Amino acid sequence: CRAVCPTGAISIHQNVEPVWAALADKDTRVVAQIAPAVRVAVGDKFGIKKGENTLGRLVAALRRIGFDEVYDTNFGADLTVMEESKELVERLESGENLPLFTSCCPAWVKFCENRYPEFRSHISTCRSPQEMFGAVLKEEARINEEKERAEGREPKKTLVVSIMPCTAKKAEIERPEHYTDGVKNVDYVLTTTEITRMIQEAGIDLSQVQPEALDMPFGLASGAGAIFGVTGGVTEAVLRRLVNSSRAEDLEEISFSGIRGVNGIKEATVKLGDREVKIAVVNGLHSAGELLDKMKAGEAHYDFVEVMACKRGCIAGGGQPVPIGPRTKKARLEGIYKIDSMAQIKLSNENPIIATLYDGLLKGKEHKLLHNE
Ligand code: SF4
Repeated sequence: CRAVCPTGAISIHQNVEPVWAALADKDTRVVAQIAPAVRVAVGDKFGIKKGENTLGRLVAALRRIGFDEVYDTNFGADLTVMEESKELVERLESGENLPLFTSCCPAWVKFCENRYPEFRSHISTCRSPQEMFGAVLKEEARINEEKERAEGREPKKTLVVSIMPCTAKKAEIERPEHYTDGVKNVDYVLTTTEITRMIQEAGIDLSQVQPEALDMPFGLASGAGAIFGVTGGVTEAVLRRLVNSSRAEDLEEISFSGIRGVNGIKEATVKLGDREVKIAVVNGLHSAGELLDKMKAGEAHYDFVEVMACKRGCIAGGGQPVPIGPRTKKARLEGIYKIDSMAQIKLSNENPIIATLYDGLLKGKEHKLLHNE
């Protein structure tokens, strides 16, 4: 069903009812993926300390309400890092379509398409983390379904549900480029607020739930995947991959290059091999407009531009629990960086499941499953 804004300006899909129906259907396998920013916000309505990582509790709650498997969108973010860093290197080498714009925020993509169509070709062809991961999950399901049919069994239908910090992600899954061979990569998006409602409807108090581990094989992600939830995180993750070092000094050098912080526009110059790469990190669409106007006027030149529509990034997305005051934002931001600092794997390319996937299921299908064009 759909909630319609009285002014007619916004029409937001409410997905709680169809997801409850899918969970009750024994012939449907319902798979969840949880976005990086959700885990530091979903505890808000359950009296859990602001910014605390509640991923384990959320996983347990999702299983209790009937999800068959629960995975991490941070794994999808690791895939995005692999593909986007490759794309950046290709564009730096060819000199074409620079700067490369990030594509993981659908509100930014729409803004660029509508207001600055002349820059459309600069947007990365990479699907967003939820879409990459959805395409991989659906491909894996397709292969398994074929096997089951060959063995004479009727397989369950697979439904992918993303738990996301914003409603823009609901619009993203409806776009034609987010179907693979006519199949939707992600079937439903639930915002953090919607999943909170479902957990409450099931009579579960998240603060009392014993944490559980994510399912494997897609439950293992790097710290680089985790920081996608904050402004500057995508850039930092891509730079880690390109510098390709997990030495503490190198990681620190990247994080102190100027890409962290809350300013609307941050600039940094990073040396990659012999080349100085000029970077801008933008949060908030007003700042994005400012930057694009400068670029149009020839007053600013970059090689890589990250844009997140929400100020401070997904931690303050429109589907996150409110109020989101300065203290809450700070706690969520620190919560995300803490997840990264606690992660044993810091680089996306060091995630062993990523390597296995490229050698197996993704072989020869990287472009089809992970890119839009
Ligand atoms: Fe959604 Fe905001 Fe994150 Fe963009 S920055 S993906 S609009 S939560």
